[in-house]
Amino acid sequence: LFPDLGPYKHAPARAFPLTSPLGMDQLPRQKHLKTKRKPFQLNVMVVGESGLGKSTFMNTLFCTDLNDTSVPKVPQDTKTVDITPVHFELEEEGVKLNLCLIDTPGFGDRLDRKEDVKPILEYIDKQYAAYYDAERSSEFRRGIIDTRVHACLYFISPTGHSLKDLDVETLKELSTQVSVIPVIAKGDTMTDEEKVLFKKRILEDLEHYNIPIYPHAYPDDDRDDMEETLKHVPFAVMGSDSLVDLPNGEKVRGRAYRWGTVEVENPAHCDMVHLRELLIIQCLHELADLSHHHHYHGYRTRLLRQDGRAESFMRCDEQYDEEMEKLKTGHDQAMSQREEKMRQQFVELVQTTEDDIRRRERELQEKRDKMMSDLEEQQKQIALLEQELNQKLTIR
Ligand code: GDP
Repeated sequence: LFPDLGPYKHAPARAFPLTSPLGMDQLPRQKHLKTKRKPFQLNVMVVGESGLGKSTFMNTLFCTDLNDTSVPKVPQDTKTVDITPVHFELEEEGVKLNLCLIDTPGFGDRLDRKEDVKPILEYIDKQYAAYYDAERSSEFRRGIIDTRVHACLYFISPTGHSLKDLDVETLKELSTQVSVIPVIAKGDTMTDEEKVLFKKRILEDLEHYNIPIYPHAYPDDDRDDMEETLKHVPFAVMGSDSLVDLPNGEKVRGRAYRWGTVEVENPAHCDMVHLRELLIIQCLHELADLSHHHHYHGYRTRLLRQDGRAESFMRCDEQYDEEMEKLKTGHDQAMSQREEKMRQQFVELVQTTEDDIRRRERELQEKRDKMMSDLEEQQKQIALLEQELNQKLTIR
Protein backbone atom coordinates (compact mmCIF):
# COMPACT_ATOMS: atom_id res chain seq x y z
CA LEU A 1 0.00 0.00 0.00
CA PHE A 2 2.72 2.45 0.96
CA PRO A 3 5.59 3.43 -1.33
CA ASP A 4 9.07 2.18 -0.48
CA LEU A 5 10.21 4.62 2.17
CA GLY A 6 13.65 3.14 2.64
CA PRO A 7 16.81 5.15 3.20
CA TYR A 8 18.00 7.21 0.29
CA LYS A 9 21.69 6.36 0.48
CA HIS A 10 22.68 7.22 -3.06
CA ALA A 11 20.26 10.01 -3.88
CA PRO A 12 22.01 12.58 -6.06
CA ALA A 13 22.58 16.03 -4.57
CA ARG A 14 22.60 19.19 -6.65
CA ALA A 15 24.60 22.32 -6.03
CA PHE A 16 22.34 25.34 -5.75
CA PRO A 17 23.22 29.01 -5.93
CA LEU A 18 21.89 31.07 -3.03
CA THR A 19 19.86 34.09 -4.04
CA SER A 20 20.74 35.90 -0.79
CA PRO A 21 22.96 35.20 2.24
CA LEU A 22 21.82 32.48 4.63
CA GLY A 23 24.19 33.25 7.49
CA MET A 24 25.99 29.90 7.60
CA ASP A 25 29.32 31.72 7.73
CA GLN A 26 28.28 33.23 11.08
CA LEU A 27 28.81 29.92 12.82
CA PRO A 28 31.40 29.81 15.59
CA ARG A 29 34.88 29.82 14.11
CA GLN A 30 35.95 26.30 15.02
CA LYS A 31 32.83 24.68 13.72
CA HIS A 32 33.03 26.89 10.68
CA LEU A 33 36.56 25.65 9.97
CA LYS A 34 35.51 22.08 10.60
CA THR A 35 32.73 22.34 8.07
CA LYS A 36 35.05 23.72 5.47
CA ARG A 37 36.42 20.20 5.35
CA LYS A 38 33.28 18.26 6.10
CA PRO A 39 29.90 19.71 5.14
CA PHE A 40 27.04 19.93 7.60
CA GLN A 41 24.23 17.51 7.05
CA LEU A 42 20.77 18.86 7.80
CA ASN A 43 17.73 16.71 7.12
CA VAL A 44 14.51 18.68 7.48
CA MET A 45 11.08 17.15 7.08
CA VAL A 46 8.01 19.29 6.40
CA VAL A 47 4.60 18.06 7.44
CA GLY A 48 1.27 19.82 7.10
CA GLU A 49 -1.91 19.80 5.11
CA SER A 50 -1.71 20.48 1.37
CA GLY A 51 -1.88 24.09 0.31
CA LEU A 52 -0.43 25.55 3.50
CA GLY A 53 2.55 26.92 1.58
CA LYS A 54 5.18 24.37 2.61
CA SER A 55 7.02 24.23 -0.70
CA THR A 56 6.93 27.99 -1.19
CA PHE A 57 8.21 28.48 2.34
CA MET A 58 11.12 26.04 2.01
CA ASN A 59 12.24 27.88 -1.14
CA THR A 60 12.07 31.15 0.74
CA LEU A 61 13.77 29.79 3.86
CA PHE A 62 16.82 28.47 2.05
CA CYS A 63 16.99 31.34 -0.48
CA THR A 64 17.08 29.05 -3.43
CA ASP A 65 14.80 27.60 -6.05
CA LEU A 66 14.12 24.11 -4.87
CA ASN A 67 11.33 23.64 -7.38
CA ASP A 68 13.78 22.96 -10.17
CA THR A 69 14.21 19.37 -9.14
CA SER A 70 11.00 18.77 -7.24
CA VAL A 71 9.14 15.65 -7.93
CA PRO A 72 5.39 16.28 -8.45
CA LYS A 73 4.11 17.71 -5.20
CA VAL A 74 0.60 16.38 -5.14
CA PRO A 75 0.57 12.62 -5.54
CA GLN A 76 -1.68 11.09 -8.16
CA ASP A 77 -2.79 8.49 -5.66
CA THR A 78 -4.15 10.58 -2.82
CA LYS A 79 -4.75 7.47 -0.77
CA THR A 80 -1.25 7.70 0.56
CA VAL A 81 1.42 10.18 1.55
CA ASP A 82 4.18 10.46 -1.02
CA ILE A 83 7.43 11.06 0.84
CA THR A 84 10.03 12.68 -1.33
CA PRO A 85 13.51 13.47 0.01
CA VAL A 86 15.42 15.92 -2.19
CA HIS A 87 19.10 16.75 -1.71
CA PHE A 88 20.81 20.08 -2.19
CA GLU A 89 24.33 21.33 -1.65
CA LEU A 90 24.43 24.92 -0.48
CA GLU A 91 27.67 26.84 -0.04
CA GLU A 92 28.34 30.21 1.53
CA GLU A 93 31.80 31.68 2.15
CA GLY A 94 33.34 28.21 2.03
CA VAL A 95 30.85 26.73 4.51
CA LYS A 96 29.00 23.84 2.97
CA LEU A 97 25.59 22.58 3.94
CA ASN A 98 24.21 19.32 2.65
CA LEU A 99 20.53 19.92 2.92
CA CYS A 100 17.93 17.24 2.54
CA LEU A 101 14.31 18.37 2.42
CA ILE A 102 11.74 15.71 2.96
CA ASP A 103 8.36 16.79 1.74
CA THR A 104 5.24 14.82 2.63
CA PRO A 105 2.67 15.83 0.01
CA GLY A 106 -0.69 14.23 0.41
CA PHE A 107 -0.70 14.46 4.20
CA GLY A 108 -4.20 15.27 5.44
CA ASP A 109 -5.82 14.63 2.04
CA ARG A 110 -7.48 11.38 3.01
CA LEU A 111 -10.82 10.80 4.59
CA ASP A 112 -9.18 8.92 7.45
CA ARG A 113 -6.58 11.57 8.15
CA LYS A 114 -5.08 9.80 11.13
CA GLU A 115 -3.78 7.10 8.77
CA ASP A 116 -1.62 9.70 6.99
CA VAL A 117 0.88 9.92 9.81
CA LYS A 118 1.73 6.22 9.58
CA PRO A 119 3.91 6.33 6.45
CA ILE A 120 5.66 9.40 7.85
CA LEU A 121 6.54 7.59 11.09
CA GLU A 122 7.52 4.55 9.08
CA TYR A 123 9.87 6.66 6.97
CA ILE A 124 11.48 8.21 10.08
CA ASP A 125 12.00 4.76 11.60
CA LYS A 126 13.50 3.37 8.42
CA GLN A 127 16.22 6.02 8.56
CA TYR A 128 17.04 5.04 12.16
CA ALA A 129 17.09 1.39 11.07
CA ALA A 130 19.45 2.22 8.21
CA TYR A 131 21.78 4.03 10.62
CA TYR A 132 21.57 1.13 13.06
CA ASP A 133 22.57 -1.32 10.32
CA ALA A 134 25.31 0.96 9.03
CA GLU A 135 26.81 1.28 12.51
CA ARG A 136 27.26 -2.47 12.51
CA SER A 137 28.68 -2.78 9.04
CA SER A 138 31.89 -1.86 7.24
CA GLU A 139 30.12 1.32 6.08
CA PHE A 140 30.91 2.71 9.51
CA ARG A 141 34.62 2.98 8.66
CA ARG A 142 33.87 4.89 5.46
CA GLY A 143 31.53 7.27 7.28
CA ILE A 144 27.81 6.78 7.55
CA ILE A 145 25.53 8.92 5.44
CA ASP A 146 23.14 10.28 8.05
CA THR A 147 19.64 10.23 6.61
CA ARG A 148 17.88 10.55 9.97
CA VAL A 149 15.37 13.39 10.23
CA HIS A 150 17.02 16.13 12.33
CA ALA A 151 14.04 18.45 12.48
CA CYS A 152 10.41 18.26 11.49
CA LEU A 153 8.66 21.52 10.67
CA TYR A 154 4.97 21.04 11.37
CA PHE A 155 2.75 23.51 9.54
CA ILE A 156 -0.33 24.65 11.44
CA SER A 157 -3.20 26.18 9.51
CA PRO A 158 -3.68 29.90 10.38
CA THR A 159 -7.21 29.42 11.71
CA GLY A 160 -6.73 31.60 14.78
CA HIS A 161 -8.54 28.98 16.87
CA SER A 162 -6.95 26.10 18.72
CA LEU A 163 -5.10 23.12 17.26
CA LYS A 164 -7.20 20.75 15.13
CA ASP A 165 -7.60 17.10 16.15
CA LEU A 166 -5.43 16.05 13.22
CA ASP A 167 -2.67 18.40 14.43
CA VAL A 168 -2.86 17.12 18.00
CA GLU A 169 -2.77 13.46 16.97
CA THR A 170 0.03 13.98 14.47
CA LEU A 171 2.13 16.14 16.77
CA LYS A 172 1.76 13.59 19.58
CA GLU A 173 3.07 10.82 17.33
CA LEU A 174 5.77 12.80 15.57
CA SER A 175 7.21 14.27 18.75
CA THR A 176 7.96 10.79 20.10
CA GLN A 177 10.28 10.15 17.16
CA VAL A 178 11.80 13.47 16.05
CA SER A 179 12.38 17.05 17.16
CA VAL A 180 9.26 18.89 16.05
CA ILE A 181 9.28 22.63 15.41
CA PRO A 182 5.72 23.94 15.03
CA VAL A 183 5.16 26.79 12.60
CA ILE A 184 2.06 28.79 11.74
CA ALA A 185 1.58 28.74 7.97
CA LYS A 186 0.73 31.85 5.93
CA GLY A 187 1.40 34.20 8.83
CA ASP A 188 0.67 37.14 6.51
CA THR A 189 -3.03 36.29 6.62
CA MET A 190 -3.23 37.21 10.32
CA THR A 191 -2.91 40.52 12.11
CA ASP A 192 -0.24 40.99 14.77
CA GLU A 193 -2.84 40.71 17.54
CA GLU A 194 -4.28 37.54 16.03
CA LYS A 195 -0.82 36.02 15.79
CA VAL A 196 -0.01 36.73 19.44
CA LEU A 197 -3.30 35.20 20.55
CA PHE A 198 -2.99 32.18 18.26
CA LYS A 199 0.57 31.49 19.40
CA LYS A 200 -0.58 31.62 23.01
CA ARG A 201 -3.41 29.17 22.28
CA ILE A 202 -1.12 26.78 20.45
CA LEU A 203 1.40 26.78 23.32
CA GLU A 204 -1.43 26.15 25.80
CA ASP A 205 -2.73 23.27 23.67
CA LEU A 206 0.73 21.75 23.37
CA GLU A 207 1.12 21.92 27.12
CA HIS A 208 -2.36 20.56 27.70
CA TYR A 209 -1.75 17.54 25.46
CA ASN A 210 1.77 17.14 26.81
CA ILE A 211 3.38 17.42 23.40
CA PRO A 212 7.13 18.08 23.53
CA ILE A 213 8.28 20.57 20.91
CA TYR A 214 11.72 21.83 20.02
CA PRO A 215 13.43 23.76 21.55
CA HIS A 216 11.28 24.19 24.69
CA ALA A 217 11.05 20.52 25.59
CA TYR A 218 14.81 19.99 25.33
CA PRO A 219 16.36 22.43 27.81
CA ASP A 220 19.99 23.37 27.39
CA ASP A 221 22.11 25.74 29.50
CA ASP A 222 23.87 27.02 26.42
CA ARG A 223 21.05 29.11 24.97
CA ASP A 224 21.76 32.60 26.27
CA ASP A 225 21.97 33.98 22.75
CA MET A 226 18.61 32.47 21.83
CA GLU A 227 16.31 34.43 24.08
CA GLU A 228 15.01 36.59 21.25
CA THR A 229 14.48 33.58 18.95
CA LEU A 230 12.65 31.56 21.61
CA LYS A 231 10.11 34.35 22.16
CA HIS A 232 8.74 33.71 18.66
CA VAL A 233 7.89 30.00 18.97
CA PRO A 234 5.66 28.81 17.33
CA PHE A 235 7.08 30.77 14.42
CA ALA A 236 4.52 32.51 12.23
CA VAL A 237 6.05 32.16 8.80
CA MET A 238 5.20 33.01 5.24
CA GLY A 239 6.64 32.25 1.85
CA SER A 240 6.76 33.96 -1.48
CA ASP A 241 8.31 33.16 -4.81
CA SER A 242 8.23 36.70 -6.13
CA LEU A 243 9.78 40.08 -5.43
CA VAL A 244 7.64 43.11 -4.59
CA ASP A 245 8.43 46.83 -4.89
CA LEU A 246 8.81 48.93 -1.75
CA PRO A 247 7.92 52.68 -1.81
CA ASN A 248 11.68 53.47 -1.75
CA GLY A 249 12.14 51.54 -5.01
CA GLU A 250 13.79 48.56 -3.33
CA LYS A 251 12.75 45.07 -4.45
CA VAL A 252 12.21 42.52 -1.68
CA ARG A 253 10.76 39.04 -1.37
CA GLY A 254 7.23 39.38 -0.06
CA ARG A 255 3.54 39.56 -0.74
CA ALA A 256 1.76 42.69 -1.93
CA TYR A 257 -1.73 43.52 -0.71
CA ARG A 258 -3.99 46.49 -1.30
CA TRP A 259 -3.23 47.67 2.23
CA GLY A 260 0.54 47.25 1.92
CA THR A 261 3.40 44.84 1.52
CA VAL A 262 4.45 41.99 3.80
CA GLU A 263 8.18 41.29 3.61
CA VAL A 264 9.44 37.79 4.39
CA GLU A 265 12.88 38.91 5.59
CA ASN A 266 11.47 41.60 7.87
CA PRO A 267 11.30 40.33 11.48
CA ALA A 268 8.53 42.84 12.19
CA HIS A 269 6.35 41.15 9.55
CA CYS A 270 7.23 37.46 9.80
CA ASP A 271 9.26 35.06 11.98
CA MET A 272 11.14 33.43 9.12
CA VAL A 273 14.50 35.01 9.96
CA HIS A 274 14.20 33.71 13.54
CA LEU A 275 13.42 30.20 12.35
CA ARG A 276 16.31 30.31 9.90
CA GLU A 277 18.65 31.53 12.62
CA LEU A 278 17.52 28.70 14.87
CA LEU A 279 17.94 26.04 12.19
CA ILE A 280 21.14 27.14 10.56
CA ILE A 281 23.07 29.21 13.06
CA GLN A 282 22.00 28.44 16.60
CA CYS A 283 20.82 24.85 16.71
CA LEU A 284 22.22 22.98 13.73
CA HIS A 285 24.56 20.90 15.90
CA GLU A 286 22.09 20.58 18.74
CA LEU A 287 19.43 19.19 16.39
CA ALA A 288 21.85 16.60 15.00
CA ASP A 289 22.97 15.70 18.56
CA LEU A 290 19.38 15.36 19.73
CA SER A 291 18.55 13.21 16.77
CA HIS A 292 21.43 10.89 17.69
CA HIS A 293 21.39 10.88 21.49
CA HIS A 294 17.68 11.26 22.14
CA HIS A 295 15.52 10.08 19.26
CA TYR A 296 17.83 7.43 17.81
CA HIS A 297 18.43 6.19 21.34
CA GLY A 298 14.65 5.96 21.75
CA TYR A 299 14.44 3.97 18.54
CA ARG A 300 17.05 1.48 19.74
CA THR A 301 15.23 1.05 23.04
CA ARG A 302 11.94 0.44 21.22
CA LEU A 303 13.62 -2.03 18.92
CA LEU A 304 15.11 -4.04 21.73
CA ARG A 305 11.94 -3.85 23.76
CA GLN A 306 10.18 -5.55 20.87
CA ASP A 307 12.88 -8.21 21.05
CA GLY A 308 12.38 -8.47 24.82
CA ARG A 309 15.96 -7.38 25.32
CA ALA A 310 15.19 -3.91 26.64
CA GLU A 311 16.34 -4.54 30.21
CA SER A 312 19.79 -5.68 29.24
CA PHE A 313 19.90 -3.01 26.60
CA MET A 314 19.15 -0.28 29.16
CA ARG A 315 22.03 -1.52 31.25
CA CYS A 316 24.37 -1.76 28.29
CA ASP A 317 23.20 1.40 26.64
CA GLU A 318 25.59 3.80 28.31
CA GLN A 319 28.38 1.38 27.65
CA TYR A 320 27.22 1.09 24.03
CA ASP A 321 27.22 4.86 23.60
CA GLU A 322 30.67 5.09 25.14
CA GLU A 323 31.97 2.38 22.86
CA MET A 324 30.44 3.96 19.81
CA GLU A 325 31.94 7.28 20.86
CA LYS A 326 35.33 5.58 21.36
CA LEU A 327 35.10 3.94 17.95
CA LYS A 328 34.16 7.23 16.35
CA THR A 329 36.96 9.10 18.15
CA GLY A 330 39.38 6.35 17.11
CA HIS A 331 38.18 6.62 13.54
CA ASP A 332 38.47 10.43 13.58
CA GLN A 333 41.96 10.22 15.08
CA ALA A 334 43.06 7.69 12.48
CA MET A 335 41.72 9.98 9.76
CA SER A 336 43.52 13.00 11.26
CA GLN A 337 46.76 10.99 11.49
CA ARG A 338 46.44 9.90 7.89
CA GLU A 339 45.73 13.47 6.87
CA GLU A 340 48.78 14.70 8.82
CA LYS A 341 50.98 12.00 7.27
CA MET A 342 49.80 12.94 3.79
CA ARG A 343 50.42 16.58 4.55
CA GLN A 344 53.98 15.81 5.72
CA GLN A 345 54.62 13.68 2.63
CA PHE A 346 53.43 16.53 0.49
CA VAL A 347 55.66 19.04 2.34
CA GLU A 348 58.64 16.64 1.95
CA LEU A 349 57.91 16.20 -1.73
CA VAL A 350 57.75 19.95 -2.22
CA GLN A 351 60.99 20.33 -0.23
CA THR A 352 62.79 17.65 -2.28
CA THR A 353 61.58 19.18 -5.51
CA GLU A 354 62.72 22.62 -4.38
CA ASP A 355 66.18 21.23 -3.41
CA ASP A 356 66.42 19.53 -6.76
CA ILE A 357 65.54 22.71 -8.62
CA ARG A 358 68.09 24.68 -6.59
CA ARG A 359 70.82 22.08 -7.33
CA ARG A 360 69.99 22.21 -11.06
CA GLU A 361 70.08 26.00 -10.93
CA ARG A 362 73.52 25.91 -9.29
CA GLU A 363 74.84 23.46 -11.88
CA LEU A 364 73.55 25.59 -14.72
CA GLN A 365 75.08 28.73 -13.19
CA GLU A 366 78.44 26.97 -12.83
CA LYS A 367 78.25 25.74 -16.41
CA ARG A 368 77.41 29.25 -17.58
CA ASP A 369 80.32 30.77 -15.57
CA LYS A 370 82.69 28.18 -17.03
CA MET A 371 81.53 28.90 -20.57
CA MET A 372 81.91 32.66 -19.96
CA SER A 373 85.46 32.27 -18.64
CA ASP A 374 86.34 29.95 -21.60
CA LEU A 375 84.95 32.55 -23.93
CA GLU A 376 86.96 35.31 -22.26
CA GLU A 377 90.09 33.16 -22.53
CA GLN A 378 89.43 32.53 -26.22
CA GLN A 379 88.85 36.25 -26.79
CA LYS A 380 92.17 37.01 -25.11
CA GLN A 381 93.92 34.42 -27.35
CA ILE A 382 92.36 35.96 -30.44
CA ALA A 383 93.44 39.43 -29.34
CA LEU A 384 97.04 38.19 -28.83
CA LEU A 385 97.07 36.49 -32.23
CA GLU A 386 95.73 39.66 -33.81
CA GLN A 387 98.46 41.68 -32.12
CA GLU A 388 101.19 39.23 -33.29
CA LEU A 389 99.83 39.32 -36.84
CA ASN A 390 99.79 43.13 -36.89
CA GLN A 391 103.39 43.26 -35.63
CA LYS A 392 104.52 40.83 -38.34
CA LEU A 393 102.76 42.87 -41.05
CA THR A 394 104.35 46.12 -39.77
CA ILE A 395 107.90 44.57 -39.86
CA ARG A 396 107.44 43.47 -43.48
P1 GDP B 1 2.03 23.16 -0.16
O1 GDP B 1 1.00 22.29 -0.80
O2 GDP B 1 1.88 23.18 1.32
O3 GDP B 1 3.43 22.84 -0.58
O4 GDP B 1 1.71 24.66 -0.62
P2 GDP B 1 2.34 25.55 -1.80
O5 GDP B 1 3.71 26.03 -1.42
O6 GDP B 1 2.23 24.79 -3.06
O7 GDP B 1 1.37 26.82 -1.79
C1 GDP B 1 -0.01 26.71 -1.99
C2 GDP B 1 -0.59 28.07 -2.34
O8 GDP B 1 -0.46 28.97 -1.24
C3 GDP B 1 0.10 28.74 -3.52
O9 GDP B 1 -0.89 29.39 -4.29
C4 GDP B 1 1.01 29.76 -2.90
O10 GDP B 1 1.24 30.91 -3.71
C5 GDP B 1 0.24 30.15 -1.64
N1 GDP B 1 1.13 30.50 -0.53
C6 GDP B 1 2.30 29.91 -0.24
N2 GDP B 1 2.83 30.48 0.85
C7 GDP B 1 1.99 31.48 1.24
C8 GDP B 1 2.04 32.43 2.29
O11 GDP B 1 2.94 32.48 3.12
N3 GDP B 1 0.99 33.30 2.38
C9 GDP B 1 -0.03 33.28 1.49
N4 GDP B 1 -0.99 34.19 1.64
N5 GDP B 1 -0.10 32.39 0.49
C10 GDP B 1 0.91 31.50 0.35
